[in-house]
Amino acid sequence: MTTPIWFDPSLCLIDGAWVPSASGQTLALVNPSDGSEICHIARGGQEDIDRAVIAAHAALDGPWGKMSALERGRILTRIGQLVLERVDDLAAIEAMDVGKPLTQARADAVALARYMEFYGGAADKVHGETIPYLDGYTVYTLREPHGVTGHIVPWNYPMQIIGRSVGAALTMGNATVLKPAEEACLTALAFAQIAQEAGLPAGALNVVPGLGAEAGAALSAHPGIHHISFTGSVATGALVQQAAGRNVVPVTLELGGKSPQLVFNDADLDAALPFLVNAGIQNAGQTCSASSRILVQRDVYETVKTRMAQAYGALTVGPATEDLRLGPLISDRQKDIVTGLLNKGADLPIAGQGVIVDHAPKSGAYVRPTLFADVPPDHPLAQQEIFGPVQVLIPFDTEADAVRIANSTEFGLVASIWTRDGARQMRLAKQLRSGQVFINNYGAGGGVELPFGGVGKSGHGREKGFEALYGFSQLKTVAAYHG
Ligand code: NAD
Repeated sequence: MTTPIWFDPSLCLIDGAWVPSASGQTLALVNPSDGSEICHIARGGQEDIDRAVIAAHAALDGPWGKMSALERGRILTRIGQLVLERVDDLAAIEAMDVGKPLTQARADAVALARYMEFYGGAADKVHGETIPYLDGYTVYTLREPHGVTGHIVPWNYPMQIIGRSVGAALTMGNATVLKPAEEACLTALAFAQIAQEAGLPAGALNVVPGLGAEAGAALSAHPGIHHISFTGSVATGALVQQAAGRNVVPVTLELGGKSPQLVFNDADLDAALPFLVNAGIQNAGQTCSASSRILVQRDVYETVKTRMAQAYGALTVGPATEDLRLGPLISDRQKDIVTGLLNKGADLPIAGQGVIVDHAPKSGAYVRPTLFADVPPDHPLAQQEIFGPVQVLIPFDTEADAVRIANSTEFGLVASIWTRDGARQMRLAKQLRSGQVFINNYGAGGGVELPFGGVGKSGHGREKGFEALYGFSQLKTVAAYHG
């Protein structure tokens, strides 16, 4: 495949300049579709993070810090337009880097543009309040940026996660330091190039690729950071929160889930079926909001099992450029994690499996999508996040059972209810322990307008929508006594 990379991927962006890491070291980036080396990226570390944080502070004292909300919004909107002009290149880069089928990679690039459009338009629409108070006072609130925000991004949806976190932070006037994942960081660099072209001032966005234990740890512990946004695993999120806690820095954590779909006897199964399967296998299951548990009421359980098994039989897995339903996992390491978890299901019946196409390179990180049936709710595969194309079917009898099982994991990111009973829809929307609840759909098309985030070990804080703008700003109360 000819590479669509139009920038030098081996550099960091610091203070508006593209520079090698201070150590001069690089890391190899691998194409998970065939195991080939794509290029080398910078191996940033403490010194690079220090320089990036200093540059971000300088940006706050310079043109970026003085820019009006209207102007910031215009820059974001321009970034969105330039992203749309480059959608095909961005999709090709992401397909190569992450292993996403091209259709999904393209959807991610379009979503990145949409975040910029949404936040660009919202920049001058976040207002404070006046508060009626004692005689002789005028009291009002100001929404101000935190200052310098750190963004640690995983490999599964780089463009969407950069859009929702860096986009919102810039909108509110923060200066940002972005640490993309070492497995997939090309679209982060492409985004930074585009932002420069759109007129983002030097230092407002700094990008330091590198290893989590080096650049990531340096960023989360940095005393010059005022807010951290992290998306990734629970274990790493806890480390980031501990490090930030030592500096008393607020943290937004988005840590994945074990999201259920609840299918009742009265559900419209024809409408539900595509969502039941797709929500589990999209991006080869490497989605924080993947639906990995399908809870089905007893009367329709066999029907749902049979129809999902048929759908699994038609799933094909292969190189990202072939744009099949699934590509490879991100890496051999992730394949080993998922295979290890699949082995824990040796005691379970397999209802259906997809196929890896014969010509898929043996050096690619492919796994067969697998649907397990009759899974006890406390089974490890019904409790642990797998982050691969694996779903479990769990039968239930009553509405109360469904809620109890749905709420029985340590996660709570997304849930959906399939039923025609309006009262049940309202009851369960309240009873499910989850950051988002969908009724007769799953994901609602992933709208950038919809606040997103978890409860329990799915994390805390909200990104997307206006909630993200509140999260990436702090409220100041001004009380003026004038007599
Ligand atoms: P990870 O959480 O270790 O990595 C995510 C990001 O954190 C990357 O940018 C990484 O460089 C950085 N990081 C790693 N160690 C760090 C540290 N000590 N301090 C600061 N930053 C650090 O995830 P992973 O190892 O790439 O994947 C492992 C598992 O995590 C997956 O199997 C999956 O279950 C989960 N995961 C979840 C999401 C999600 O969207 N919620 C995304 C990726 C991975």
